[in-house]
Amino acid sequence: MDSACGKRIYVDMDDVLSRTTDTYAQIVAQEFGKQALFEDLVSFDLKKSFGLTDKEFHHFFDLVHQPEVLLSYEPVEGSLSVLSRWAEQGHHIDIVTGRPFSAREASLAWLDAYKVPYAAFTMVDKYNRTANVRSTVITKDQLMHRRYDMAVEDSREMAIFLADRLTVPVILYDRPWNAQFLDHKNIRRVCSWQEITLSPHTCRHNPG
Ligand SMILES: [Mg+2]
Repeated sequence: MDSACGKRIYVDMDDVLSRTTDTYAQIVAQEFGKQALFEDLVSFDLKKSFGLTDKEFHHFFDLVHQPEVLLSYEPVEGSLSVLSRWAEQGHHIDIVTGRPFSAREASLAWLDAYKVPYAAFTMVDKYNRTANVRSTVITKDQLMHRRYDMAVEDSREMAIFLADRLTVPVILYDRPWNAQFLDHKNIRRVCSWQEITLSPHTCRHNPG
């Protein structure tokens, strides 16, 4: 490890750092009486995955972005200790989330509650939500100007975008909705945080 050269690491929040979709399954069961096993959630489209009507999905979307729900998510096993180690080693952790702007305060409160050692918090309109037209939510085009040394994502589409457009090595956190075969020289699939190691390649981020 080259501790003199802090790497800039993109870390997604939902289902990489926080156990979001695990919690969704419980909420859908409680609210709509619909049962879904985590391993059956093979679509990134939650409406489809949970078999919700449009009306149910709008209610669900509002519900899961309420502060008390956002704050209730548990951290993904192993994530906090790896991030703490990286921070101690001098790396810069940028939490990059596609959550809507309305989730900003609760997201920051969650990061503080779990003492996540992040250097930056970025909201990106990953899923083209028009309600996100705010100066504090950047577009994917703006994200392309960022330089990262590594990214950890669970969205297959975002992983491909990062690997192709930012040419960043991506760790794809294995989830049922991204399980479709993906052969990309810049993308490596892992099933746990313990498998994520920083590659020893030279830091390409220019600290200046
Ligand atoms: Mg995610």
